[in-house]
This record gives sequence, structure tokens and C-alpha cells, in this order.
Amino acid sequence: MARFGRGVIPRRSADELRHMRAAGRVVAEMHQAIRQAARPGVTTGELDDIARGVIARHHATSNFFGYHGFPAVICASVNDEVIHGIPGARVLVDGDLLSIDCGAIVNGWHGDAAFTMGIGGITIEAKRLVDTADAALAAAVREMRPGNHLGDVGAAIDEVVTAAGYGSPRDYCGHGIGRAMHEDPDVENRGRRGRGTELAPGMVLAIEPMVLSGGHDDVHQLADGWTVVTSDGSLAAHVEHTVLVGDHGPEILTRP
Ligand code: MG
Ligand code: MG
Repeated sequence: MARFGRGVIPRRSADELRHMRAAGRVVAEMHQAIRQAARPGVTTGELDDIARGVIARHHATSNFFGYHGFPAVICASVNDEVIHGIPGARVLVDGDLLSIDCGAIVNGWHGDAAFTMGIGGITIEAKRLVDTADAALAAAVREMRPGNHLGDVGAAIDEVVTAAGYGSPRDYCGHGIGRAMHEDPDVENRGRRGRGTELAPGMVLAIEPMVLSGGHDDVHQLADGWTVVTSDGSLAAHVEHTVLVGDHGPEILTRP
């Protein structure tokens, strides 16, 4: 279970960071290809095929496919689905809110990132949800500088989400990342400023706000064993970047 501010965060060498940047670039290209293809009439399975193509072109490996048996290289979560949606025959329709999460391994090093986008025209409320998730991630990224603490990252997310009147699930969070996709520590979407591990250059975290428009934190998993949905049926957004604490400030490794 998630523990606040526990765990050592390794500091990556220049050589290790070179590989992590390469993995991050593959993930960013997967995102770009999916953004361009996602529109009404396209299935989430077709988006998975596109992501597979990007991975193959770079001779990279998927860290999602086969993860505890996960059957695809992307998670595609639509509307009230928060995370871990399995891509397949579902056809996207105008007004859908689509969250895509995917990652890649290059030379044994991992990248992991997610975005949420509207399909066709979305409601003003859905747009406000996406903007809030993006703003929460941006605020958390800004905290990724030497001398700050892990608690500052989670607090920044919580402040933006709470101010907008939204909620976050408590049982899912970001994580350390490196030679494995999920390493210590947990990076919760809430926290206390000035508490937790002090951040230092070379530390890399996957930061991933999950924002629930209903304002509650209640989610549950569907019978497929993966898909997590809001319990009130409200829309959800999920965004993520793999982020380095640089010498002088944050560096997003999964930015296009
Ligand atoms: Mg992640
Ligand atoms: Mg992810």
C-alpha cells in the first residue's frame, strides 16, 4: 500500500539518463502518433496498433505488454474509466474523453507517460477537467527541483485538483522509475509540503495526477481485472510525465 514520503530515490548517472531520455522520446512519439489518429470512428485497438508500430520502429520494448498479464502496449480509458482501460473493439465517438497511458524500454531503461484528450467536440465541463489535470501535472513538475521534498510534489497536485472542486483516487499514484517501470517511492497525488525525501539532481519520478470530476475519491475495478472506473460514473482524466530533477530545475523526459 502507498506510504507517504518513504523510500530512497536513486540518483541516475549521466549515462543512465541518456538511456532514460531515449526511452522518453519513444513514449513522446507514441503519444504524438495516437493524438493524430484518435478521432470518432477509430477503435482503441487501432490506437494500440499504432503505438506498437512506434515501438517496433525504434527497436524499443513495451513495458505495458505482459505487465502482470496486461494484453496491450497502451491503456485506453474512456470517459468514466480512470486508468488501465484495455484497448480493443471500442469505437471512439464524438464527445468522448480519452486517456492514453503507455511506456517504452530502451537499453533496459524505462519511460512512462499519459495524456487525456477530447474526441471531436467535448463539453465545457470536460474541457475544464482536462485543463485541470494538465495544470496539476505542470504544478507538480515545477516542484521537481533540488532542495524541494517529495511532499511538495503531491501537495502541488492536490492544491490544483481541490481548488477546481475535483477529487483524486487514494489507491493509485505515481512512482519511481528507472530499470523497472514501478520503483520506490510512491508519488502520491497529495502530500505535505516540506515533508518526505529531499529531492536532488539525478532523481527521476513518474508523476501522474488522476482527476475525478465528481469531486469524490471513490473508484473501483471492473470484472476484467484492470479497468478502474469512477464509482459515481463521473468523467475522469489521467496525465503523466517521467520527470528528472535537473541541476537547476525540472526536465520532462517524456515531452515531445
Ligand atoms: Mg506510471
Ligand atoms: Mg503510465
